[in-house]
Amino acid sequence: MENITASEVAGFGVGTFLLCATIAAPRVDAFISASQRSSLGMCKRCGNLRMIACTKCKGAGLIRQGSLFGLNLLDDSKRRSTSCTNCQGRGHFSCPECSNSSL
Ligand SMILES: [Zn+2]
Ligand SMILES: [Zn+2]
Repeated sequence: MENITASEVAGFGVGTFLLCATIAAPRVDAFISASQRSSLGMCKRCGNLRMIACTKCKGAGLIRQGSLFGLNLLDDSKRRSTSCTNCQGRGHFSCPECSNSSL
């Protein structure tokens, strides 16, 4: 007695394909957007913004002291912000690809 019918096998196959497609989607999307930008003559790194946001301070240029992993360990009055050492408080870097090609 076969309990698994052909349609169930086909359904399992489609389900597996959709699962793989879902996992791969962000990467495919990033790849497509990068290739689109380059085909449009735009910088694939920054999209012609000529700058890249600092990942350490999220583009703010300031690092909030006293917070760790989103938890506030100190009161707001005790917290202070310091300039981001990663970007010297600017919040962004000039895009290396644009600055190389334009200079
Ligand atoms: Zn920064
Ligand atoms: Zn760029």
